[in-house]
Amino acid sequence: MNTKRIETVIAHEGRPAEGPVNRPVNRGSTVAFRSLDAFEAEATNADLRVASRYGRVGNPNSQDFEHVMAELEGGYGTVTACSGLAIIACALNAFAAPGAHILMVDTVYGPVRRFCEKRLRPLGVDIEYYDPMVGSGIEKLLRSGTRLVYLESPGSKTFEVQDVPEIAKAVKNKGIVTLLDNTWATPVFFQPLSHGIDISLHAITKYIGGHSDLFLGAAVCATKEHYYALRNCAIESGQCAGPDDLYMAMRGLRTLEVRLRRHEENARKLIDWLKTRSEVKHILYPSLPDCPGHEFWKRDFTGASGLFSMILKTKSKEDLRIFVDRLAYFPLGYSWGGYESLIVPLHLDGERSATKFAEEGQGLRLHVGLENPDDLIADLAAGFDRMKS
Ligand SMILES: *Cc1c(COP(=O)(O)O)cnc(C)c1O
Repeated sequence: MNTKRIETVIAHEGRPAEGPVNRPVNRGSTVAFRSLDAFEAEATNADLRVASRYGRVGNPNSQDFEHVMAELEGGYGTVTACSGLAIIACALNAFAAPGAHILMVDTVYGPVRRFCEKRLRPLGVDIEYYDPMVGSGIEKLLRSGTRLVYLESPGSKTFEVQDVPEIAKAVKNKGIVTLLDNTWATPVFFQPLSHGIDISLHAITKYIGGHSDLFLGAAVCATKEHYYALRNCAIESGQCAGPDDLYMAMRGLRTLEVRLRRHEENARKLIDWLKTRSEVKHILYPSLPDCPGHEFWKRDFTGASGLFSMILKTKSKEDLRIFVDRLAYFPLGYSWGGYESLIVPLHLDGERSATKFAEEGQGLRLHVGLENPDDLIADLAAGFDRMKS
């Protein structure tokens, strides 16, 4: 088994053993063979982690990247797809059959909720949303037809941390697959498989890519059985990732650990300052003691990344507009996990149904980038000053 520490896996794995250090971008659909024996041997290669019969089924760039991700989280194998949402949709398709009951965390990433409602429910999948703080209470929600339990920890936008080991334990040995979206923490700060989860999902687009210049999704599977279920679903539905994006993702991954530590440090500086500001009512971030599930974060995670939300005291949209419109270092934009800071208004309309997030005041989600934190603080301070005058 893997005894290398995470920084070593990040720097060392997924590279050619000798010659140029980095695997070049391997563009290609067709893989050519010169003998019938070789062609047929590859066509029936049973190990899909290394099969290279056709570019869509796997190429050197996807195989290297999938290998490193599996090593990082201690999985049997990884499946990649062209975006985070694509791999999540593929995983749900692989395990949620018509008539099946699936338990979906109420704080799930919005587009995944929409996929469930618009694509799975019409096919007869029974989707039930549950409170992220359910813990071992998940057991009471299980039915004979339950096939899948989906977690996202911390939750999208509101950052509730789930009791992952308790949920995994309650669900174990019942023929139910557990999936967890680990995009916020990355393998550096949280290891889902070693906390009992079957499949760990990643929008590589965010921190692992790290430069806001690619789309990629990955699912790390603990067992061979789940790996093949998901890999075959990906092959049958034509899911694959482009070699350029895979190359860029690998390049981003090499510096993941150092970037994340700085994102954490910068976020902490901003949060400590924001807590002193009278304009700020509440900050939602797993390492703050008042965050729901903070004790689970402390127990299970080794750090907190640079994404958090805050609720302002003001209820005025106009105040919000004045605050964000002239910020120098926080453009409005979706996504996060790049080297740069971002801000986005917090909209939860239609995104909670089993629980309520009813805090009054204008909400914002901030991604703290790698700029100097004092410059970021000065920028936000100027925004608050404009809001007051
Ligand atoms: C962005 C994101 C996704 C989707 O990833 P894309 O690559 O944008 O499709 C999934 N889950 C979470 C938590 C995300 O933030």
